[in-house]
Amino acid sequence: MDKTNYNHSIRCSVNQCANHAQSDDYCALSQIRVGTHENDPRDVKCTDCESFKIR
Ligand code: SF4
Repeated sequence: MDKTNYNHSIRCSVNQCANHAQSDDYCALSQIRVGTHENDPRDVKCTDCESFKIR
């Protein structure tokens, strides 16, 4: 993946992710999938980036 093509529409600080644009706080993917691990999500912490991949 070209990490210099970071996506200005997706800010992300999870630089442990293989899809992170390492030079700045953005995702390098053109799109991501967001989901939840909860039955009834009510807060930010209930949501997950399902495109996360460990570096
Ligand atoms: S895939 Fe998700 S966790 Fe990984 S850099 Fe992109 S937004 Fe962040």
